[in-house]
Amino acid sequence: MSKSHDLFVKAQDAIPGGVNSPVRAFKGVGGDPVFMKRAKGAYMYDADDKAYVDYIGSWGPMVLGHNHPEVVAEVHAAVDRGMSFGAPTEIEIQAAEMVRKLVPSMEQVRMVSSGTEATMSAIRLARGFTGRDTIVKFEGCYHGHGDSLLVKAGSGLLTLGTPSSPGVPADLAKHTLTLDYNNLEQAQQMFAEKGSQIACLILEPVAGNMNCIPPVPGFLEGLRKLCDESGTVLIFDEVMTGFRVALGGAQAYYGITPDLSTFGKVIGGGMPVGAFGGKREIMNYIAPLGPVYQAGTLSGNPVAMSAGLKTMQLISQPGFYEALTETTAKLVAGLQQKADEAGIPFFSRSIGGMFGLFFTDQGPVDNFEQITNCDTERFGKFFHLMLEQGIYLAPSAYEAGFVSAAHTDEEIQKTLNAAEKAFSQL
Ligand code: PLP
Repeated sequence: MSKSHDLFVKAQDAIPGGVNSPVRAFKGVGGDPVFMKRAKGAYMYDADDKAYVDYIGSWGPMVLGHNHPEVVAEVHAAVDRGMSFGAPTEIEIQAAEMVRKLVPSMEQVRMVSSGTEATMSAIRLARGFTGRDTIVKFEGCYHGHGDSLLVKAGSGLLTLGTPSSPGVPADLAKHTLTLDYNNLEQAQQMFAEKGSQIACLILEPVAGNMNCIPPVPGFLEGLRKLCDESGTVLIFDEVMTGFRVALGGAQAYYGITPDLSTFGKVIGGGMPVGAFGGKREIMNYIAPLGPVYQAGTLSGNPVAMSAGLKTMQLISQPGFYEALTETTAKLVAGLQQKADEAGIPFFSRSIGGMFGLFFTDQGPVDNFEQITNCDTERFGKFFHLMLEQGIYLAPSAYEAGFVSAAHTDEEIQKTLNAAEKAFSQL
């Protein structure tokens, strides 16, 4: 038996399900998760030293590839200066200024330690600012595991078949209303009835937690208008799309400005960082300036900030997103061609450095219902055939994939060769 298998057996005794985050278990595809021990560039290496071309990138953060030498050097230097101070440091200003430069709607930025904290804090702030309790989200969007947001959620909850989690009091969940993604008419009806009670509308501007579903033309524009008319705070959850679909995130890609935004993943360059921010008028409500409380022992941690800041500097280099977009498009076009040649019903798409693979004969998948009609069993088979050949895809038909700047033609070709074989065996 493999070392990875032995580790999984051991892990299951000490850790629930053997994993510290459910999406790492192979629940959506069956089999044991692979235990990793190191990573470099586009590759991860498992406990048995098998190499994998990595299309998860730690679920998004590693847009530069693993262990970029300049990021690692910054982290080492920061560790040498001190791991955590619990007092303000200059690098926090530099990181916040960098975010403001790259995402102009972020007039003020508060750093936290995860995407969950960022979205939880943003909705609390929106509620405090508007004096309203009701929030609106879309079915299949995942915004972390804050109580109010675990209602009809995507990601691991969708994979496990429990989109609304037990443990969330019904009295709290009743304040979260849900809508169908890409259905503007339904949103218009809801806002016509209840708009004046809605504190915020939160969405993934490209839904990446039910595979990869972009907004249909007019959807984001329509939501912006509804929020303007009803005094509702529009929150773009850019934890996944930020610094991923474009340097300025989905708001730059689609040209729609939210009131608040949340970030995570890439913003920490592989360290635990999240951020929320936006209009100064709203951010003024957060403690210690205003009455809405939000805090964190390790928020703005200097080691984490050093990784995030260096990452943001590197991805700001001219041509970075053009190259990332081209590599990702090449991968997706190649996979589509291999599937078509093998006669497998398949649809694929990419936006910047993010992609989606759908086993379906329906063509473009644009909403929750369509994604739940895709062939998850066939995806599971494909996943394992690829894994055997050293290609590491997200272990669920409901998760987006990620390409990094370290992926070259060589890795893409390796992946397409593996896919040709996999499609022929489906
Ligand atoms: N929001 C979105 C869009 C996400 O994709 C995620 C995580 O995948 C989160 C929030 C939660 O972030 P974290 O896992 O860092 O708490």
